[in-house]
Amino acid sequence: MNNPELIQSLVRRGYLVEPDAADFISQNPALIPQIDELDPAANPITLLQVQNMIEQERGFGSGKEIELLFNYQESFDVRGGVQNFLSYFTSRYQKLSSMLRGRPELDGVTSIKNSSSSKVDKLSLIGLVSEISETKAGHYMLELEDQTGTTKVILPKGSEGHKFGPEIVYDEVIGISGRSAKDVVFASNVTFPGVPQVDWPEQDFSIAMISDTHVGSRMFMEEAFLNFIAWLNGEGPEEQQELSKSIKYVLVAGDLVDGCGVYKGQLNELVLPDIEDQYNKFAELISKIPERITTIICPGNHDATREAEPQPAIPPAFAKAIYQIPNVIMVSSPSLIRLGGLVVLMYHGTSLDSIINAVPELRKTGYDKPEAAMLTLLNKRHLCPIYGEARLFSEMEDTLIINKVPNILHMGHVHSVGACIHRGVRVINSGAFQSQTPFQAKAGHHPTPGIVPIVDGLGKITMIDFNVKPT
Ligand code: FE
Ligand code: ZN
Repeated sequence: MNNPELIQSLVRRGYLVEPDAADFISQNPALIPQIDELDPAANPITLLQVQNMIEQERGFGSGKEIELLFNYQESFDVRGGVQNFLSYFTSRYQKLSSMLRGRPELDGVTSIKNSSSSKVDKLSLIGLVSEISETKAGHYMLELEDQTGTTKVILPKGSEGHKFGPEIVYDEVIGISGRSAKDVVFASNVTFPGVPQVDWPEQDFSIAMISDTHVGSRMFMEEAFLNFIAWLNGEGPEEQQELSKSIKYVLVAGDLVDGCGVYKGQLNELVLPDIEDQYNKFAELISKIPERITTIICPGNHDATREAEPQPAIPPAFAKAIYQIPNVIMVSSPSLIRLGGLVVLMYHGTSLDSIINAVPELRKTGYDKPEAAMLTLLNKRHLCPIYGEARLFSEMEDTLIINKVPNILHMGHVHSVGACIHRGVRVINSGAFQSQTPFQAKAGHHPTPGIVPIVDGLGKITMIDFNVKPT
């Protein structure tokens, strides 16, 4: 504990404080007057409660310029086990099937139980993909599941539906239409949840997106990163002044630091082997961002928070120095944030590995075209559809569904920049500030570090290269 007297004084006045909340308070003593307004006889003070207090103090919430629409907080009433698993998949099925229901392609949708009891010439089903394989003859065989049962679905070679076969992954929810025979459905078409067209409401600010700085790694590109910070401070070329001045938000999509013990032999690749030193260094760099800019940070798989997704914000216990910077907001991965009139979905992108690996078309361009993989996730309306290959936290609800279609979908993780606009959604991967690691060299990945995507008020995406100081 950083400030035992402060906590003791709270305890003396009758307050019970959860340990992580106590840490947070001792790092933010300005909260004490607000805590004094609480009823000491109420439940122990939680981290969530004090974090909300600081959010209010820093001026965000509904009606404000910044609003956290989804910010995952670890809940401790998770019991685990079969019950959770069932409830989790039920919520996944319900949310995604409701997006598919009512689609004209899925006219006359029926339950799986109904479909298997009779021969029907034309029917539609919505189900969770529990099995997928390709037969020797080149047909795709699926097993679809809903709450009423399971059925085999065949996408016959040469049919319209067949071309969707390679795109289908385990555990996602899709719609199919076709005809049913005995115990099997022949699908002529496949429907993914997809996204409707979203308008871009014009804003008077711009947003810069970064990720994967991997501070502490030998490969962290400090000089390029300092070029970026200098640019934010107005040191860029004349013609970029307007853009640089318009930046109101910097979003950081995880992997702030390289971490310790994340992979075998990591120690040899670290200049800062201590996690707190890594975060201190990151904080020192970020603190040079001009005060007019709010920096919003989520964790990645290298950061010091729970690895299972959704990942709660990096806790103050490790990143105290970051929490002390007044214009920084720490959020979970994923998190849904409203910035002025825009909705941003920020997620580290850990699942990009599994989706790239699962879909042959994505495997071709792999890590060089991250926006294609992001687009696939967007169309599946799920940040991490393949349950089995991910480290997902077994909870009652599936919180990785893309419920609300954002104006900006921001991820990192693959260390290559990429962007596209799909139905109005700005799909952006912010690359890295780490040069190629020995692991990436072995895996054949060619990172494009030091390039920062910026979205301006009109929704135009500009990439600025900070590998050399822009002058
Ligand atoms: Fe990374
Ligand atoms: Zn990562």
